[in-house]
Amino acid sequence: MFRIRFHGRGGQGMKTASRILGTAFFLEGYEVQDAPRYGAERRGAPIFAYIRADRKPINERGIIAGPDLVVVADDSLVPLPAAGVLQGIREPTVILLKSCESGATWRQRLNIKNPIVTLPETGEAEDSAELRYIGAACAGAAAGVLGIISRESLAQAIQEELGRLGEAVLAKNRANALASFDAIKKSAAVNVTEGGSIPAQPYKRPAWIDLPFEDARISAPVIHAGLTSVEVRTGLWRTMAPVIDYSLCRGCWWVCSTFCPDGVISVRDNQPVIDYDHCKGCLVCVAQCPSHAIAAVPEKEEQARKKAVAGEAS
Ligand code: SF4
Ligand code: SF4
Repeated sequence: MFRIRFHGRGGQGMKTASRILGTAFFLEGYEVQDAPRYGAERRGAPIFAYIRADRKPINERGIIAGPDLVVVADDSLVPLPAAGVLQGIREPTVILLKSCESGATWRQRLNIKNPIVTLPETGEAEDSAELRYIGAACAGAAAGVLGIISRESLAQAIQEELGRLGEAVLAKNRANALASFDAIKKSAAVNVTEGGSIPAQPYKRPAWIDLPFEDARISAPVIHAGLTSVEVRTGLWRTMAPVIDYSLCRGCWWVCSTFCPDGVISVRDNQPVIDYDHCKGCLVCVAQCPSHAIAAVPEKEEQARKKAVAGEAS
């Protein structure tokens, strides 16, 4: 059975990537399970989706604990413990990473021996207020590294999953997916090996926390305790930072502060102020600001700018 996990951020198209790959497997005659997994968070939050594919009926259920292939759409997720990218990897697990750094660099950085195949940045023109949508490219690369999915099945799967979005979207995604498929087929000297069946006997119960059937305030005291969410630094998720240009800001703070799904825009002296420790970079505020006073800036650039300002001040 092939066990595949896709990791990305909400908005990058990982759910669609798993749908495309699952359909491609199906067209190759496999039995398939595919499911996305995300919580209440929205764009920018780490999410994952997973696929099981086998020639026989699949009886295994639940989240994949020991993947044969891990596809990562955003390399900033790798060091993030909450994203669980490396969870359950075994020596033969292949890691397919969208990154401009090489597989060898990542192997050394992570101190692992696994085959790491990188899918370089495509340099497509993107709206800076949007997360990069790379679902189709990741599905194509995954199909390439699996080695058992044909180009025709991949193209047909994209048609089935994205056909309803119109010819222009379909054509762009098909081109991206097939380009990634061809690039990986040409360059990657690794193929994913199918994992064996997992016997049920040694299965260990995950470290669940048992919540008794009680009134919510008793059974979920941590959730209901005041201010615990402050401890979750969702600012670490950000790949793009919203930056307010106060010379363009018209002070209509009820717009940006209301639309921010995480309530991290507060108002000081009639001006909006972003709490960057907890801004997850979903860029809803960028899209909603009527004066276009909030720009989406790559996080690395913004960090460098802040460092330079701090250096000048000291
Ligand atoms: S919505 Fe835009 S213009 Fe209005 S207060 Fe917020 S940043 Fe300023
Ligand atoms: S400040 Fe903007 S980018 Fe940050 S969480 Fe709120 S809406 Fe999203």
